[in-house]
Amino acid sequence: MINIVLFGKPGAGKGTQAEFLKEKYNLTHISTGDIFRYNIKNETALGLEAKSYINKGDLVPDSLTIKMLQDEVERHPETKGFLFDGFPRTLAQAEALDAFLATKKWEVTATIALEADDEILVKRLLERGKTSGRPDDQDEDKIRNRYQEYNEKTAPLMEYYNKQNKFYPVNGIGSIAEITERLSAVIESL
Ligand code: AMP
Repeated sequence: MINIVLFGKPGAGKGTQAEFLKEKYNLTHISTGDIFRYNIKNETALGLEAKSYINKGDLVPDSLTIKMLQDEVERHPETKGFLFDGFPRTLAQAEALDAFLATKKWEVTATIALEADDEILVKRLLERGKTSGRPDDQDEDKIRNRYQEYNEKTAPLMEYYNKQNKFYPVNGIGSIAEITERLSAVIESL
């Protein structure tokens, strides 16, 4: 069982890389952003509740997010491991994930961070917004708010995982294939 947290700012390429890594290492990919968007599209109670936060670029409250993540993990009891993409994003989520995995005698194996400069990422997200249809990709103020949320609430997780010797930063600038190679080298060293 290996459980990888794919970490990085919005636009760093987590989703793109997750698509390759899940196939290569036979991992169950859980993207909390994708699950929220699915719920919004289908107008579920969870989707209605999460929508106002997401469309502003704010984080969805921990209580909703943690419950959703746990339900998703429970759906895959036979998996060889998870690839968490976009979760955890707060200290409370990281602690809840550790406690929840421990109840199953599992743990986070490694957190791999895709690193890139903010200005490059803002441009990338505005470009993605032209085709993604995501309201949170289309407005520079909302994008900047997502970075503020990241800096305040998510960045402290680097220290949290570093203290556990589970933090692996990777240069997130390069071709998709080059970055997949860098991530694979970390996974194969575990
Ligand atoms: P993403 O697709 O990962 O960029 O997520 C899109 C949006 O979904 C974020 O800006 C948040 O509003 C919400 N979201 C996704 N994952 C989380 C999380 N772990 N905690 C809180 N909000 C989240």
